[in-house]
Amino acid sequence: MTKPCIICVAITGSLPTKANNPAVPITIAEQVESTQEAFEAGASIAHCHVRDDEGKPTSDPDRFARLKEGLEKHCPGMIVQLSTGGRSGAGQARGGMLPLRPDMASLSVGSNNFPTRVYENPPDLVDWLAAEMLKHDVKPEIEAFDLSHILKAKEMQTKGQLAGTPYVQFVMGVKNAMPADRDVFDYYIATVKRLFGEDAPWCAAGIGPAQIVLNEWAVASGGHARTGLEDNVRLDRDRLAPSNAALVQRVVDLCERYARPVASWQQARAILGLPLRQPT
Ligand SMILES: [Zn+2]
Repeated sequence: MTKPCIICVAITGSLPTKANNPAVPITIAEQVESTQEAFEAGASIAHCHVRDDEGKPTSDPDRFARLKEGLEKHCPGMIVQLSTGGRSGAGQARGGMLPLRPDMASLSVGSNNFPTRVYENPPDLVDWLAAEMLKHDVKPEIEAFDLSHILKAKEMQTKGQLAGTPYVQFVMGVKNAMPADRDVFDYYIATVKRLFGEDAPWCAAGIGPAQIVLNEWAVASGGHARTGLEDNVRLDRDRLAPSNAALVQRVVDLCERYARPVASWQQARAILGLPLRQPT
């Protein structure tokens, strides 16, 4: 059988605002509602940031706790992935929500440039975040903005800093970082297979207009796909995306075109080695 495709929806991020697209969910209530629609459309992972009352990114553990609770109630079974990447420069505050024991958290293992600044991930902070994830039984998603980040994940796995097979996400199309380059993408896949095994799952995310490109490459190549308003607020040059669910639907359509079943939350948990939590 063809491998099911896990769809991750990155609902909010640190940057997009209502001015960019009114559908960007900012409050916890909006985030829960938007995620539920995306879950019903086929997403099985919710990648989450939280915002403060002014809409600015925060790592406030209380807000993360409220969001996690809302998602567990309204999207039972969906994998909740909290971002530790949203506030570069904030040090250990970035991991202050890990004691909430979400299913997953994002983990950047190296630094690179972002559109207007350096995305700082110093080695001591990376080690600390990885240790906290081990301590609280949180599965990391390794954010690979560069080839070296995949090899760093291997080194961390060998040293026992990561449990099990790392789940690597390739991020392409961030201005001043790795563009959506097909040869590099193929080499990323070959590197994951060489280091972590032929069946190691991997995911890909593209920023802005690269989102749909990376979605198609990932679906066609047997990987998993991330979409959502965090990475891209448009359907195309002329139209804003009406919702996170609409972006999930684009990936569902690609899955159909490439004969990939869309992973249920149960299948997604099995693929990622996460416990099957029955809805309560
Ligand atoms: Zn994020």
